[in-house]
Amino acid sequence: MKTKLGLLYGGKSAEHDVSLQTALAVIKALDLEKFDIYPIYITKEGAWVKGPQLTGTVEDVKSLRLSAEAAMSPLAMRSTGQDSKEDGDEGFDVIFPLLHGPNGEDGTVQGMLELLNLPYVGNGVLASSAGMDKVVMKNIFAQAGLPQVKYTWFIRSEWETDKDRAYDKIEAELGYPCFVKPANLGSSVGISKCVNREELANAFVEAFLFDRKIIVEEGIVAREIEIGVLGNDQPKCSVAGEIIAKKDFYDYKAKYEDGDTAMVIPADISEDDYQSLSEMAISSFKSLDCSGLVRADFFLTKEGKAYINEVNTMPGFTPFSMFPLLWKHTGVEYPQLIETLVNLAQERYEEKQ
Ligand code: ADP
Ligand code: MG
Ligand code: MG
Repeated sequence: MKTKLGLLYGGKSAEHDVSLQTALAVIKALDLEKFDIYPIYITKEGAWVKGPQLTGTVEDVKSLRLSAEAAMSPLAMRSTGQDSKEDGDEGFDVIFPLLHGPNGEDGTVQGMLELLNLPYVGNGVLASSAGMDKVVMKNIFAQAGLPQVKYTWFIRSEWETDKDRAYDKIEAELGYPCFVKPANLGSSVGISKCVNREELANAFVEAFLFDRKIIVEEGIVAREIEIGVLGNDQPKCSVAGEIIAKKDFYDYKAKYEDGDTAMVIPADISEDDYQSLSEMAISSFKSLDCSGLVRADFFLTKEGKAYINEVNTMPGFTPFSMFPLLWKHTGVEYPQLIETLVNLAQERYEEKQ
């Protein structure tokens, strides 16, 4: 019997387009002998629509004039699968939320799927929400003893009350260069590197456009190494990969537009470095109580010091993204990776029953 798979993508976030590209790639890769695919698209405005017409190109999907009958309520997820299931069985077997950023990767959608009692791929509510907030994530990592660069954070109202105080604190505690980031985002959106107070002030304005909370970190010069983690209670690590950004840092354009960022897989690092990074990857996975997958991202300095930068609970997932490529080099091809994730979702769901 085929697995009835609901794919959830798009979403009300700055990473909408990335999600859409990912979903279209996953749809193409799925084995139709094994899966009944059911696309559900969340528009940028947050409307939910369903239907088989949502599988063309990115432009096709975005330019669709969505008919009233395509509209659906998120809460109808439980029964939405029924009409397309040939054998009349009710509902979806598994939902794959291919959503990045707030309202998707942050536990909100996961919470809804929990309430609807539907199995879903990837991280649960806690790991998703803790992993989305860079401040909360770093506090948990600190508790787990994971090495990190120095950081501090601010909420908008606090900064507005006394901006100079915020800048003084950063200069005293972190110095330049520093990185200013919205706390709850990804894909480098709203992130700036600052080398003086004027840039710092601009960076705060920019980052606060995206969030009411921001994090500021000590900037370091380091290689960027990433490891994929896959599993539930016994997570496994992929080989390591390296991101080589030709720009000053790995910003949004470098990630998705210019294509002049190189990925080196496997990364040219020593066996010892790989061992310690993969232990950190597993420890980060466990500290957030992750399930399914994460991509753990590290900084590795010339002196051989390793720091965890972040985990991404729904990492970029096109066939050309780091996470699937890391697994390909580890011996798990893209279609097999998707199937593994679906199986892990079902396993986790059954364990909870
Ligand atoms: P996102 O979740 O948006 O990917 P990151 O924290 O990974 O945010 O930051 C994006 C990029 O900015 C990193 O891949 C790296 O190139 C650069 N960067 C972020 N923080 C630092 C830092 N503390 N020191 C040096 N480079 C950094
Ligand atoms: Mg991230
Ligand atoms: Mg990152």
